[in-house]
Amino acid sequence: MIRRLVAFDTTSRESNLALIDFVRSYLDDFHVTSELVFDAERRKANLYATIGAADRGGIMLSGHTDVVPVDGQDWDSDPFTLRDEDDRLVGRGASDMKSFIAIVLAMVPDFIAARAATPIHLAFTYDEEVGCLGVRGLIDLLAKRPVKPRCCIIGEPTLMRPVVSHKGKRSLRCHVHGHASHSALSHAGVNAVEIAADLVSHIRRIARRKRDEGPFDPGFMPPYTTVHTGTIAGGTALNIVPRECRFDFEIRHLPGDDPDRIEAELREHAASLLPEMRGVSAETGIVLDAYNAIPALATPLDSEVVQLAQSLTGANDAGKVSFGTEGGLYQQAGIPTVICGPGSIEQAHRPNEWIALDQVRQCEDFLRRLITRIAPQ
Ligand SMILES: [Zn+2]
Repeated sequence: MIRRLVAFDTTSRESNLALIDFVRSYLDDFHVTSELVFDAERRKANLYATIGAADRGGIMLSGHTDVVPVDGQDWDSDPFTLRDEDDRLVGRGASDMKSFIAIVLAMVPDFIAARAATPIHLAFTYDEEVGCLGVRGLIDLLAKRPVKPRCCIIGEPTLMRPVVSHKGKRSLRCHVHGHASHSALSHAGVNAVEIAADLVSHIRRIARRKRDEGPFDPGFMPPYTTVHTGTIAGGTALNIVPRECRFDFEIRHLPGDDPDRIEAELREHAASLLPEMRGVSAETGIVLDAYNAIPALATPLDSEVVQLAQSLTGANDAGKVSFGTEGGLYQQAGIPTVICGPGSIEQAHRPNEWIALDQVRQCEDFLRRLITRIAPQ
């Protein structure tokens, strides 16, 4: 099953419908009905299916179907043809996160045979790797239901250790509109690149303050909120005072550290630059646009799903990770979520991405124990 799923090129920019159709007809064979939630162009879809009573909150097993691009990566073999190599399987998505979805699918007959009172929900999403976009449509669908899943396990690679917390992320774009002039007459222009540089420096000051003054949470690496500028573009020629400059930056915040406050601080700084700009030209301005946000995840340790994951894995602790997942959005929608899946994030997104066979086995054992747990005694 892992081999089959890896063979679908579901790089986020591509359609995932071939994979979704495959999963749907596979589930159909077991008389499990799927619901699809499409994107606006009907090029991609989430799949949601329930094994067992649909009128009861059950346990949702969730994973994203998309993978990151292989462009520019040095692979030893075709990334979409799963390769056996000693004790590991190599292929794009092997760890992030087609193996989890494949193992869940392979065990569908076992879930059905268990005839459990607690239903198992399957939630397979699209466009996770480009900002957790697809899952939002699925959450809208669930919100309209009288009964929501009681809890969720996301099989992102954690080496099968329960993870209860990750940072949130907000992505922002800043567009500085200056005023062009001949560079010899720079007093008549508003230099958009320099205004942007001022703002970028301010972002850097905030980042340093977070690093030095916290808040801190030693469970994360690094243990504080980070802010950084990722891209910048502006200006047309050296002898023209640049009219436009835009840059993208992001805030990766600890649960409990409010990204609104950082954004507000930056907006305030931007506002303080405006009078001088407007003094030269009324058409100048600074537009700040938060274009994506993934909430932080912080599932209480005493919640049912954490205890379930701990008892199924035998772990008595619960970890925190630095990468974001759809869990923050599920939590925001009132579905307590734990991340626990096979493989390591260290192998994700890299050339020759792999998963250890032992991890596959551990995930199978985990799901078998889950079945035993929910099956009638
Ligand atoms: Zn992932």
